[in-house]
Amino acid sequence: MAVNTGKCPKCEQILQHVDVEAIEIHKDLKRAFHGASFLCPHCHSILSVELDPIALTADMAKTMAERLKKG
Ligand SMILES: [Zn+2]
Repeated sequence: MAVNTGKCPKCEQILQHVDVEAIEIHKDLKRAFHGASFLCPHCHSILSVELDPIALTADMAKTMAERLKKG
């Protein structure tokens, strides 16, 4: 097992894992992307926000299917 040394910048606990939450990424007050926020499991500070790769792929497949249907 890996020995982790990375610390949360807020509570300074060493993180063995992070928690993930689904979060919407908005542009001009409308949902633009599905995102994922990565949280410190100790103090729940957001460490990072990224695009959700699984939702992004699903959205892309749905958009492609809709465009193919239109012809
Ligand atoms: Zn923390």
